Amino acid sequence: MAEIVVLGAGLGGTLMAYEMSDQLRPEDRITLIGSSSAYQFYPSNPWVAVGWRQRKEIEVDLTAIMRKKNISFLTTSASRVDPKTKTVTMTDGTAVPYDYLVIATGPELAFDEIPGLGPDAHTMSICETGHAEAAFAAFEAFCQNPGPIVLGAAQGVSCFGPAYEFAFIVDTELRRRKIRDRVPMTFVTPEPYIGHLGLDGVGDTKTLMESELRNRHIKWITNARIKSVESDQMHVEEINDDGSVKMAHALPFSYSMMMPPFRGVPAVFGIEGLTNPRGFILADAFQRNPTYPDVFSIGVCVAIPPTGKTPVPVGVPKTGFMIESMVTATAHNIGALLRGKEPDIKPTWNAICLADFGDGGVVFVAQPQLPPRNVNWAAEGKWVHLAKVGFEKYFLRKIKAGTSEPFYERYLLKQLKIPKIHHPVQPHKKAG
Ligand code: FAD
Repeated sequence: MAEIVVLGAGLGGTLMAYEMSDQLRPEDRITLIGSSSAYQFYPSNPWVAVGWRQRKEIEVDLTAIMRKKNISFLTTSASRVDPKTKTVTMTDGTAVPYDYLVIATGPELAFDEIPGLGPDAHTMSICETGHAEAAFAAFEAFCQNPGPIVLGAAQGVSCFGPAYEFAFIVDTELRRRKIRDRVPMTFVTPEPYIGHLGLDGVGDTKTLMESELRNRHIKWITNARIKSVESDQMHVEEINDDGSVKMAHALPFSYSMMMPPFRGVPAVFGIEGLTNPRGFILADAFQRNPTYPDVFSIGVCVAIPPTGKTPVPVGVPKTGFMIESMVTATAHNIGALLRGKEPDIKPTWNAICLADFGDGGVVFVAQPQLPPRNVNWAAEGKWVHLAKVGFEKYFLRKIKAGTSEPFYERYLLKQLKIPKIHHPVQPHKKAG
């Protein structure tokens, strides 16, 4: 009998629990640890922040779904992972032992690394649905008394899509409210050029995104390092290639949303051999930790080196389709280990992304994720907004159904070159 524990019930962890349950032998058990019973579809957070969605439309309670799937579901957060004793200690003091652990804890949002950054200080966030709700309340107040807006991403961010999406969505919403003419907008980013996205661009995202910003009268500052934020002003340094300061900007604002730097969560931060200095989990080509081979990791918590040197730190994004490739490979690899075989499936890490602009958008495909690539394609159009709405419905249906969908799944399995069912699915005992 093997105990498989999945830590983190977000996008990656929830799908991991679903896919792993199909790989168990009858005697194996699976436990999912989440910080709450609610799954929230973060890609819809930018819409929550302008009132186009409400929390209840993008939130799913996982309790009944997990029970139906015989997945033991704990909703107390973990305080620490101990890979030497193969135990996860919970905040209530209880210990959860494991034979195989999959870490899917996403990022800790490191607002504290920049003075004045974050929803407890002077800038809004859309990284959690609760943050997006607060951002909407502030946006409503802002619209009563419009002024300058500063949006974008801080140094060390590894998620640029939502920053661009939110800038364009805010622009769309302000035009709908007929107050756009009263709002100077500036986009601030550590990327060396617009449309870099942490991927050194995909297709011609540089031209597409620059032209979109120009068309919408949004100014930008690249190679930007935020020094500090005051209640109505952001201090930003524009950095030269040699690391010197090219220009210091004091940007006044009445409303600001900045994506914060990411680091690993406290439950794993600083564990020798498990994490890198930023607290991200080290993984080999099979998503397995080299020091602790019983530990796998998926999603934003995985350590991926940057595409190359940039004047200001720019992280590689871990997007939905890429995370699904990690999930599918990990489920198959643990399934193999349970049957006395070695892991044999490598995730593709390919990126397929829809970036919504509220009234249009950009889609890009990067295969493989980092250049040089076999597929390096980006396109824009009004249809992308509709496609993103469709994807939201599709994804939430998949989470509620407690299963991976044939369409997305089959495409992924084909990419990974594995048959639909690697191991015959067997009924397993009720867990927990
Ligand atoms: P998360 O979904 O963040 O899940 C991590 C979970 O672990 C959380 O529920 C957290 O509470 C839990 N956790 C952490 N620590 C503990 C602990 N100690 N104990 C218990 N639980 C713990 N990607 C796309 O492909 N397309 C998009 O359109 C897109 N839009 C995005 C929009 C936003 C605003 C953001 C922030 C990201 C977006 N992404 C998008 C990127 C990515 O797909 C998401 O960030 C995705 O949610 C990452 O999945 P994850 O499982 O790695 O982390």
